[in-house]
Amino acid sequence: MTQHVKVLIAGSGPAGLTAAVYAARAQLRPVVVEGEPSSTGDQPGGQLMLTTDVENYPGFPDGILGPELMTAMRSQAARFGADIVTRKVTKVRFDSSPFGVWTSDAATREPDYEAEVVIIATGARALMLGVPGEDRLLGYGVSTCATCDGFFFRGQHIAVVGGGDSALEEALFLTRFASKVTVVHRRDRLRASRIMQERAFSHPGVEFLWTQQVAEVLGNGKVTGVRLRHSTTGEERELPVTGLFVAIGHRPNTAVFHGQVELDQQGYIVTREGTATSVNGVFACGDVQDEIYRQAVTAAGSGCMAAIDAERWLEARGS
Ligand code: NAP
Repeated sequence: MTQHVKVLIAGSGPAGLTAAVYAARAQLRPVVVEGEPSSTGDQPGGQLMLTTDVENYPGFPDGILGPELMTAMRSQAARFGADIVTRKVTKVRFDSSPFGVWTSDAATREPDYEAEVVIIATGARALMLGVPGEDRLLGYGVSTCATCDGFFFRGQHIAVVGGGDSALEEALFLTRFASKVTVVHRRDRLRASRIMQERAFSHPGVEFLWTQQVAEVLGNGKVTGVRLRHSTTGEERELPVTGLFVAIGHRPNTAVFHGQVELDQQGYIVTREGTATSVNGVFACGDVQDEIYRQAVTAAGSGCMAAIDAERWLEARGS
């Protein structure tokens, strides 16, 4: 049976749960469709569930584990009355109001929810290499975020894989901490913009290994190196490093929103005037609409904005 709700929040990372705290405290009784664990790395709580120490989220002078932070945010949202359901949004209909939202266990033609407002906070995922050792050592030397984890690699030799702007940005940032940063790229020329290339080439702390693929991440409990394979000859060698930053791109989790709301060329939701999307009454926050900052704290901030925007939008409509 279709449940009618005022506010439905899709996603349960820092953006979705902050939106939930604000919407719940504003008596909007939000439903949070938090997602479901899947073999492709999806999980309620988002990307912070895949990190270890978070040292840059304000309020935790000694740092906090990513999963602990997300559990705390979830409890906080639940305490104010957010209804958190462990399902995944599988289909939406935004062409008429109230909006239709179908979730994973829906075998019906009718939507599970009809919502006056939808807040999209489904996040983004870092693309991964899919090589042995990568999953096992994620958070133990394998990282997808230099801003988050670079600090842990002071004085160490680390590798960055990728040849785009993200990889060079990560590499340059990491030179603040690392003794040496080796960029491993699968081709003999970079995809990155010229200015980023110039910066990286002229930095004494960055070196390049060309036409090399990471074939395996090595280490027991923590990264001790990577096995590299030459892209054309197949010749293999080991590079001893204590960290591997995977920077081969991100993909926003917007597959179910295609054709329903405006996306940019990369698939991110286009927001304007705060968190408004191309559909009146649909708001977006966090990494699903942000390919620049991608931080827990900026996601949380935009989640707060989305809830306030939603509340004002409902108020203006007299709902
Ligand atoms: P990107 O431009 O798509 O580059 C991805 C890089 O990863 C490419 O060099 C690609 O190699 C490599 N790659 C992809 N899959 C791989 C795999 N399985 N194994 C090894 N290497 C792999 O992604 P991005 O760097 O994240 O940038 C995305 C967008 O954001 C771009 O438009 C970029 O300009 C923008 N951006 C801008 C800035 C900035 O201006 N400061 C910073 C970050 C991102 P190939 O080259 O061989 O395909």
